[in-house]
Amino acid sequence: MTTTSIYELARCSGLTDLFFSEEPADLEAAKTICEGCPAREACFELAVSQQERWGVWGGRIFWDGQILAVKRKRGRPPKAAAAALAS
Ligand code: SF4
Repeated sequence: MTTTSIYELARCSGLTDLFFSEEPADLEAAKTICEGCPAREACFELAVSQQERWGVWGGRIFWDGQILAVKRKRGRPPKAAAAALAS
């Protein structure tokens, strides 16, 4: 799949604010859009090869060069959530 065909198939056209948001809810919404995208795997591979640092690409969150499953909100999680994560 070429870069041009990825862009032709993209379901994210015009949704830059959502795909590059800092809000976890926005990023999850972007990932949902990616789920049905026919260019998903090619998009992810292209993002990795281009060392993308930010945004949602191929259904994954790129955050400061790291690939995250989920973007958490800023700050510490509530104590109950932290305890649940530790167990
Ligand atoms: S996988 Fe997601 S980011 Fe990539 S082209 Fe499709 S909708 Fe856009």
